[in-house]
Amino acid sequence: MNLDTLKFDIVICGAGPAGSTCALALGVSGLKVALIDKDSFPREKVCGDAVAPYVKKVLNTIHPDYAKALDEFTLKEKVNRIRFVAPNKKKLDIQFADEGFISTRLNFDNFLFNLAAKLNNVQVFLNTTVKDVIRIDNGFHILSGNNISFETRMVIGCDGAHSVVNKKLTHTSMDLNHHSGAVRAYYKNVSGLAPGTFEFHFFKDLLPGYFWIFPLPDNTANVGLGLLSQNISNENTNLRNKMLHIIASEPQLKERFEKAEMISPVKGFGLPLGSRKVSMSGKGFMLCGDAASLVDPLSGEGIGEAIVSGRYAGWQAQDCFRKNDFSADCMKDYDEAVYKKFWQHHLNRYRIRKFINHRAWIINGLVNLAEKNKWFYRRLAKIMS
Ligand SMILES: Cc1cc2nc3c(=O)[nH]c(=O)nc-3n(C[C@H](O)[C@H](O)[C@H](O)COP(=O)(O)OP(=O)(O)OC[C@H]3O[C@@H](n4cnc5c(N)ncnc54)[C@H](O)[C@@H]3O)c2cc1C
Repeated sequence: MNLDTLKFDIVICGAGPAGSTCALALGVSGLKVALIDKDSFPREKVCGDAVAPYVKKVLNTIHPDYAKALDEFTLKEKVNRIRFVAPNKKKLDIQFADEGFISTRLNFDNFLFNLAAKLNNVQVFLNTTVKDVIRIDNGFHILSGNNISFETRMVIGCDGAHSVVNKKLTHTSMDLNHHSGAVRAYYKNVSGLAPGTFEFHFFKDLLPGYFWIFPLPDNTANVGLGLLSQNISNENTNLRNKMLHIIASEPQLKERFEKAEMISPVKGFGLPLGSRKVSMSGKGFMLCGDAASLVDPLSGEGIGEAIVSGRYAGWQAQDCFRKNDFSADCMKDYDEAVYKKFWQHHLNRYRIRKFINHRAWIINGLVNLAEKNKWFYRRLAKIMS
């Protein structure tokens, strides 16, 4: 069997939000970059599809044209309100100044990937699964499933929650207390959708997890449920059954789903949470997004984290090439930048998650208090933003 070996300065494994953004950040570097993905685009990714408002600002820091392109990207539903439904069924709406949006990952990831694929210095390899990452004298040898191998000075692992790059280059193992599981399905015609509003429904036996309804264009919605993996394991929870049971049995939801049609299967995936510090880099490599366990431990959001870390990795890579220094020490600046941005925030949200674990009365009390007290309402809005 003949193996073609292609040489690059940098190989980015995975072209999701982290990988595509990393490629964008390397766009004007003059470095020869390979962007590899096991799938072709557009492709699905199991997700709630909610994209944080700050993502536009991050793209803007790479190039204003990317922020403009995001403005012009129409396959999204703008969102500026969160609705909490407490276990006692009381509702609280929190309004935000900044607008985020919801867009199926089929569309959003395709949008980002297409921006990256246009770059002159980036060569794209789709339907190319990274199988092994082997250290060689001056970098890495990357073996893929389709007879191509890559030789590179630096590898950036953006290959998601089951990252091969992470497995091969670090000793991080999964910890159920720092990991969540979640499922989602698409529905049409769910009644009572409030425009521009994320809905979070809390139930006593689901805390600190939650059930969500996120509105999408064309009267469709992303409906799902997520829970800490330790709780899933302790309680032997089947997330799919749990989600369908909630829809069928909770009176306020049952009514809203009466005429709704499920237009996709229920699919699940894992979320490596950013509530513990892991090894995100080493000699000649960096990990971004889910591969670096950067998902928000309370909300389960990780798209923004993937985009921010992808950008930092792109910038850090340029710095290392400028200095011709690929040591673990040089890469460490990347970890510092990412943790400076997210660690305290994630830690606070981890503490909140621990605090509300199975305590429905806390959510009931918070919703009550926020309704009556303007100062507390603003605090809660800040914590949730
Ligand atoms: C049910 C659920 C709901 C969620 N809801 C939200 C939400 O509403 N908002 C939010 O911000 N986050 C949400 N998340 C988290 C979010 O999906 C992830 O944090 C985000 O996708 C991370 O982006 P990434 O680029 O790091 O990884 P990914 O998006 O997983 O991209 C990884 C890429 O690598 C490719 N790849 C994987 N393995 C290989 C390989 N061996 N070789 C080559 N390519 C490979 C994949 O094909 C993929 O394109 C949710 C997650 C789940 C499971």
